[in-house]
Amino acid sequence: MSYLEKAKRFFNEAQAVRRQIHENPEIGFKLPQTIKLIKQKLDEHNISYSHLGDTDAIVGTLGDAKKGKTLLLRADMDAIPMLEEAGLEFSSKKDCAHLCGHDMHATSLLVALIMLKEDEDKLNGQIKFLFQPAEETLNGGKLMLESGILENPKPDAGMAIHMWPSGEKLGILINKQEALCSALNFKIEIEGKGAHGALPYTGIDPVFVASQIINGANAILSRELPSNRGASISMGYINALGGAINIIPPKVYIEGTSRSLYGDSAQLVAERLPEIVEHIGKAFRAKTKYEVVANAPALTNTPAMSALVKESAEQVLGDNYEIKYIEPALASEDYAYIASELPESCYFFVSCPLPDKDGNVFAVHHPKVVFNEEALIIGPATMAQAAVNWLNKHSL
Ligand SMILES: [Zn+2]
Ligand SMILES: [Zn+2]
Repeated sequence: MSYLEKAKRFFNEAQAVRRQIHENPEIGFKLPQTIKLIKQKLDEHNISYSHLGDTDAIVGTLGDAKKGKTLLLRADMDAIPMLEEAGLEFSSKKDCAHLCGHDMHATSLLVALIMLKEDEDKLNGQIKFLFQPAEETLNGGKLMLESGILENPKPDAGMAIHMWPSGEKLGILINKQEALCSALNFKIEIEGKGAHGALPYTGIDPVFVASQIINGANAILSRELPSNRGASISMGYINALGGAINIIPPKVYIEGTSRSLYGDSAQLVAERLPEIVEHIGKAFRAKTKYEVVANAPALTNTPAMSALVKESAEQVLGDNYEIKYIEPALASEDYAYIASELPESCYFFVSCPLPDKDGNVFAVHHPKVVFNEEALIIGPATMAQAAVNWLNKHSL
């Protein structure tokens, strides 16, 4: 029986798990209800696990390390702090919701593991699995690294999925190499000296300094990066607390994010931005603080593993689904922390649109986003097939 047929057999169970997680979303690093359900399902299917350090991440292994290499399968399981407006019978009843589909990811990994557990004797190596919290903070992946996800056993490669509900057809979408952007999220505080707007020479104007910092930061992009290895910087929040039409405020706060598909460009921005802030501040007598809130690397796939995932999807799903390479997306993903430490990795998308009565589909993080639950069949089937094929390719 193919993994597609097997995944169909588990669909009702998968749907129930997914809807239960969906109805009871949790955000951040602590996900007590979510992990309780996942642990219960792992117990029911005789899959042993433990917590990663003292985190709410669940890890474990299947198969036999003596027969080959170790492949990490990772899913996230946290929701986002937004209200859901899809009006589903199982919509979130809380002030957060699974609008990024991480309930689908956790359930997909669960189904893949149940199927791989059935074939455990035949696995030519070892599967290591990770159910991860706090992806949406972009710091969960970092905590996984710090808590030892790459040790005992050390994975030789990794694989992860994400739902793509705004695509055209059901299927599997794969980035051959560059997949998602780095994300440097930062805060800047500029302390000047308040003054009457008519007497700027008696103060130190942090609004003026902020404007110079914003200009200076953008010069990194236009003057210091090659035009084919670009990055973006967006300062999405600026607050001049205490200022008014004729009052120079004492302080300005800025928050922003920088993205790039290229690790070297991301690194340059991460080095140069704090220098620009510090030196422009000094030039105009203001005190500055620069704080990094998150700094996830760019997510890059290994072309050979991308090809293996594409072939595995074609093998297991046949012609009924769309399977293709896609251009990189400019979003970010904290699995990149783990992937960037692995010799091989592939992160791919499960295209899962379910148009509403007017034919609309919505992207992740939209309050009305709806995920086609057929993804709970094709996602795990592809993941399990690709895992088996990768282990076979690297068996001893
Ligand atoms: Zn998200
Ligand atoms: Zn997500």
